[in-house]
Amino acid sequence: MNESDVIVVGGGVIGSALTYYLSLLGKKALLLEKADLCHGSAGATDGYITPHTKKPGYHLELALKSCEIYETLAQELETDIDFELDLHCGGIQACEDEMQWELISANARELIKSGLALSMLDITQARRIEPALSPKLRGALYSPIASSVNPFRLTQAYTDAAKRHGARVMIETEVRSLVFEGERVVGVSTNRGDFHAEYIVNCCGSWGASVAKMAGLTMPIVPKRGQIIVSEPVAPLLNTVMQSGIYPIIKFHPERITDEKVFRLGLAFGIEQTKDGSLLIGGTRELAGFDRGNTPEAIEAVLKTVSRYIPAILDLNFIRCFSGLRPHTPDGLPILGKVKSVPGFVMCCGHEGDGIALAPITGKLVAEDLVYDKTSFPIEPCAAERFFESAPERNGAAGF
Ligand SMILES: Cc1cc2nc3c(=O)[nH]c(=O)nc-3n(C[C@H](O)[C@H](O)[C@H](O)COP(=O)(O)OP(=O)(O)OC[C@H]3O[C@@H](n4cnc5c(N)ncnc54)[C@H](O)[C@@H]3O)c2cc1C
Repeated sequence: MNESDVIVVGGGVIGSALTYYLSLLGKKALLLEKADLCHGSAGATDGYITPHTKKPGYHLELALKSCEIYETLAQELETDIDFELDLHCGGIQACEDEMQWELISANARELIKSGLALSMLDITQARRIEPALSPKLRGALYSPIASSVNPFRLTQAYTDAAKRHGARVMIETEVRSLVFEGERVVGVSTNRGDFHAEYIVNCCGSWGASVAKMAGLTMPIVPKRGQIIVSEPVAPLLNTVMQSGIYPIIKFHPERITDEKVFRLGLAFGIEQTKDGSLLIGGTRELAGFDRGNTPEAIEAVLKTVSRYIPAILDLNFIRCFSGLRPHTPDGLPILGKVKSVPGFVMCCGHEGDGIALAPITGKLVAEDLVYDKTSFPIEPCAAERFFESAPERNGAAGF
């Protein structure tokens, strides 16, 4: 007998958002997390909601749909948990040289064609918005609609709201294998026993490939490490969420990167100031397996780069650093929806560096897929099947 309608595996921002939208639509949802909520990248990340960092086309449209939900999310969740949503704080991509300026201007033209309000500012104009920028910079892209959020608290807010709509949340509950009845997945086996449901959803972020493997699927999700440095709390220094101009170049034109270290570490910083005044300086995109350590090389390189853009950071004390794992997929889109060849099994992971921005729309659309069998915005471009060489079988992986 099913104790739940849907089992959501993974208590990160994506699993918690999905659990909320399922509960809202009247489903009995059970969230299982192997450690604690935010054990994964949702607890070791920045909180940028920046449509201007998305690829024009489907990816951007998906991000804009998520932004629409963010507009009223605080009222909708009716939670006491303040998830520090700073709507429309604005986003800057600061350009250090002519190459960055040209590539970012070209990217901005594409984004503007797709309907995003953006401007390219010379450095004098940019410093009116963000006085901490060095006057030596070339200029900046400015997006007035960019926002930021505290991902840790957002995850808690979603689970809190989900529980009020009847969801159950179990931490320290690790899914170790799936339970099959014939071809269909009907449950999970965990360290706390078996649980059954109509659908099992894989929201395991960077661990998504190992849970997919339990269903016999080979999913190309690999962890990309991001190291973040935290300053002591200081008086207001930044107004916007900011990135270096190299960020979209690493993302969309890696072939233009000539510096070996920048390429190897994926060195493009992002900097934001949290509500308590700390600066979060994130900076790397490294293939380092599941190693969540920090390295002196990366920290030194990030801070040196940031000081060229924001000289004031040279006067700050840095109190700690941490690392998170971005769930990377080959085309940068998440893997969402029911897997046709494995009835009962659903993918909902692989959000790379966009999971905070995309959490609301992901949760909403995957919940619609499970409840109504159709979605209010297409998720077909995110189907697991795009990675299958031959669609009809599970896709050939061993081991269930
Ligand atoms: C440094 C850094 C900066 C980033 N900045 C941004 C940003 O500014 N904006 C943005 O939109 N995105 C950003 N991201 C990306 C974003 O953090 C991720 O896309 C998002 O957190 C992924 O969420 P998730 O819930 O899919 O995965 P996770 O948060 O990793 O959650 C997966 C959960 O599954 C659990 N789990 C795994 N296996 C099992 C199992 N067998 N049984 C039960 N539970 C299991 C894990 O313990 C974990 O809690 C950043 C990421 C990093 C690392």
